[in-house]
Amino acid sequence: MLRFTLLVLGLCLAGLPAAAQPDAKLIEDLVVANRVLADLGVVDGFGHVSVRHDKDSNRYLMSRSMAPALVKAEDILEYDLDSVAVDARGQALFLERFIHGEIYKARPDVKAIVHSHSPSVIPFGVSKTRLQPIYHMSSFMGVDVPVFEIRDVAGSASDLLVRNARLGAALANVLGDKTVVLMRGHGSVTVGTSIPQVVFRAYYAEMNARLQSEAIKLGAVTYLTADEAAASAKTNDALVMRPWELWKRKVTKPE
Ligand code: MN
Repeated sequence: MLRFTLLVLGLCLAGLPAAAQPDAKLIEDLVVANRVLADLGVVDGFGHVSVRHDKDSNRYLMSRSMAPALVKAEDILEYDLDSVAVDARGQALFLERFIHGEIYKARPDVKAIVHSHSPSVIPFGVSKTRLQPIYHMSSFMGVDVPVFEIRDVAGSASDLLVRNARLGAALANVLGDKTVVLMRGHGSVTVGTSIPQVVFRAYYAEMNARLQSEAIKLGAVTYLTADEAAASAKTNDALVMRPWELWKRKVTKPE
């Protein structure tokens, strides 16, 4: 009986998620993404970027709670899609990690996510003027950028943070099949199919907001049509490595 128990135990252990370590390159890219987003002014002391685990689609990788510019490989933790850290190693976790887990649940196509409070986007979450693609670099946004109103789910006295799975699921629902969702009075979330693409998108969403605010001051604005946006987004998706390599070099070059 003991031998049988040991045999079963041995088989169970052998059958455990075979120490499915993520690709070291994925971790490296995630660290670089943290620094690039800080360098570009998309994140500051706040904001986070995650990537879906390359060996287990029910997991994702993101740093412990800390400023993105300071993230190193050893700060990266693994989370399940309920945003429970597989091994938190005693570290504090981002309060808003549910943004990531709930979007990965709702969107199997999404492989990387950025949440930020990038400043130029904020006015479009609180005014009647919609964020719309003003030029080809932000065409990925499409012409119908949704805005998440947390009051619809959390009432009028919340701290505005997506601090649980219910709020995360509501945000994912408003995101729908889009690439970016604004969060009223808070920030935005950008999703993509790779780390370089989501960094590209987070940066050009911020840039579009800045340029759109400038253009509005000049008078009536001509935006991309839905067809222009779709065609341009397809073109850009093949080009995301060009700025990525530049941005990466800026944050990794020797002092
Ligand atoms: Mn936030």
